Amino acid sequence: MKKLCLLLCACLLLCVYPAIAADPTSQPLQKFSGSFYDSFDTITQLIGFAASQKEFDATLAETRTLMRHYHQIFDGYNAYAGVNNLWFVNCYAAQGPTPAEPELIELLLWVKENQKDTRVNVALGAVLSVWHEYRTTGEEVPPVELLREKSLHVDMDDVIINEEEGTVYFRDPELSLDLGAVAKGYAVEKVAAMLAERMPSYILNAGGNVRCGGQPQDGRARWGISIQNPDGNDYLDVLYLTDQSIVTSGDYQRYYEVDGVRYHHIIDPDTLMPARFMRSVTVVTRDSGWADLLSTALYLMPYEESRAFVDALPGVEAFWALNDGTIQYSDGLKTILLSAGASARDEN
Ligand code: AMP
Ligand code: MG
Repeated sequence: MKKLCLLLCACLLLCVYPAIAADPTSQPLQKFSGSFYDSFDTITQLIGFAASQKEFDATLAETRTLMRHYHQIFDGYNAYAGVNNLWFVNCYAAQGPTPAEPELIELLLWVKENQKDTRVNVALGAVLSVWHEYRTTGEEVPPVELLREKSLHVDMDDVIINEEEGTVYFRDPELSLDLGAVAKGYAVEKVAAMLAERMPSYILNAGGNVRCGGQPQDGRARWGISIQNPDGNDYLDVLYLTDQSIVTSGDYQRYYEVDGVRYHHIIDPDTLMPARFMRSVTVVTRDSGWADLLSTALYLMPYEESRAFVDALPGVEAFWALNDGTIQYSDGLKTILLSAGASARDEN
């Protein structure tokens, strides 16, 4: 419940910045919004321009169906009848090649390739489930010996994915997969592909994992998306953009405290402890799956390394909230940040 409340707060805070008044004479489309709560343990909100409430509701229903579909496939905690999901694979893949849903195979192949050169490792499940258990109890920090023991079973090379057969096999019986760093963003991008056909002017916000498309149909050139202050209910800055994903990883999103120390949910595989390099990092790039993977990856690096990583990647920008309360951002954000003088009316 605590986890859900935190996610709801994070989501509501990463809200759409107030709209600038529209010229009604030039607006054939109307703005609608709706939300649902039954996927990825969070609230998903769709804001979009449509010709009628009926048309919007149909697109919202399709969004919900798709999000629910991916939620079931990437769920590592629950079984669903007839779905060979992550839970199923984690249960049986050590016994031999285990059938997995095609969407799960696709995501695993993608992440295996793209997590290279980062400290994101979706095969870290054995370690992460210890942290998950202790976070749920909320009273103690996991013993280092237990974490070390589990960390001997986290090699992604032991995850054998057979694309033709549609199976996954764990060569290490103690290994398990955790897709928390990437699954939601990956699902959001699938929904974005559907929305591009149905509602070309929208913002989809899945618990702070934001994807926007097209220009708002109310006179603004760009959507305004706020970046949450890790220390409060206000925002640090506002990004003005369109056709981009905005994903944040931070220490305030999911955590518990022991003796006044915060233990959050993003674990450094080197120390097996929550990473302490920064408070949050927000990634801006087109693909939401990539943004989700990158936000976790950048959070797991010292700022300088994180900055160099972004600077070397075309089409990727980032905003860092550092431990000393200062902020940093990559050069490409200069034209789209409120604090740097951008507004929703600008075209670039
Ligand atoms: P995010 O909020 O996207 O940064 O992802 C955080 C989630 O990713 C956590 O709740 C865990 O499920 C998972 N996770 C934490 N640390 C790691 C890691 N080093 N590698 C892969 N997944 C991780
Ligand atoms: Mg992520």
